[in-house]
Amino acid sequence: MLEKGKTIGILGGGQLARMLAVAAPRIGYRTHIYDQDPDSPASEIASCCTIGSFHDKALLQKFAKSIDVATYEFENIPNSAIAEIEKNVQIFPKKNALAISQDRIQEKKFFRKLNLKTVEYEIVSSFENFSTAITKLKAPSILKTCRDGYDGKGQLLITKDTKKDEVENHLLNGPCILESFLNFEKELSVIIARTESGDVVSFDPGENIHKSGILHTTTVPTKISKPIQIDAIIIAGKIINALNYVGVLGVELFITFNGEIIVNEIAPRVHNSGHWTQNGCVIDQFEQHIRAISGRRLGDGERHSDVTMINILGEAINDSLNITDGAIHLYGKKDIRDGRKMGHINYVSQKSS
Ligand code: AMP
Repeated sequence: MLEKGKTIGILGGGQLARMLAVAAPRIGYRTHIYDQDPDSPASEIASCCTIGSFHDKALLQKFAKSIDVATYEFENIPNSAIAEIEKNVQIFPKKNALAISQDRIQEKKFFRKLNLKTVEYEIVSSFENFSTAITKLKAPSILKTCRDGYDGKGQLLITKDTKKDEVENHLLNGPCILESFLNFEKELSVIIARTESGDVVSFDPGENIHKSGILHTTTVPTKISKPIQIDAIIIAGKIINALNYVGVLGVELFITFNGEIIVNEIAPRVHNSGHWTQNGCVIDQFEQHIRAISGRRLGDGERHSDVTMINILGEAINDSLNITDGAIHLYGKKDIRDGRKMGHINYVSQKSS
């Protein structure tokens, strides 16, 4: 177990790092952020910051020597940066989970190897591949870049009217997968944690609504039936154990109208759809992650209240300040941009079920 007073290094200084940096000192740890932005959301909270590029090997080495364990808040960190850190300290979640989540093809293959259902997909790296794939899958489909996509970025909805040059332009971003468009009933996510010794704790599944590919709300409890919720947790458990994972993992799932569970993707980190835990559980996902990576015992994951989490995007931050009936969590971002996540609000009510 990491002793009290030790330092947790966090790669990336966005809102997830900021909330990890709030949780860590509560249970006795210091935090050290590594980010290229001197004004990152986490920088005003963390004990210490290193400002630099994820390609600066000497600086990464210096950072790694100043911390006792490392973690990260986003999955698109260059592998070379991870390798540099690993020369000095352990990094959790481990590289296997990061590699799978960084590449949609690897991710789909991993799910199928575990006998989990995914949407139908084809690998596409040229317009010729695309023509064959769309004949099989038919429109509507979604063309997704294999790497570097988040919040619906890197996705092109393919309809009967999509033009050849739109597809060709999209393929310039690198290899893609074409996924058949699933007309699902609901989107759920399971936020689950595992320690190195194999203890696993899940939070209740959250029901998610996205707008333009960006998470809009998460509601807990979901209206989906209890047996499906339990199956969703079992699937997340299967994934986290197969990865021999350490830390908090987000598992995104689609529920079809006939109750099938389709695995969409995983995020090897704390997750936007787990923000409700800050006001719905005694130990939230951020503290849970710090507990897992520092070898402490996990919190019980118990929900004490119902919560609806609403993301605050762009200019909506100005109105959010007047809210008196919800818990506001702002990220300290100076530039307001359309669609940028500026904070979130947790609306809490008495536990219903
Ligand atoms: P992703 O980046 O894969 O999580 O996609 C972002 C959002 O787009 C998801 O949360 C869904 O709302 C939607 N989406 C992604 N893939 C599909 C699909 N195959 N069929 C229907 N909707 C999808």
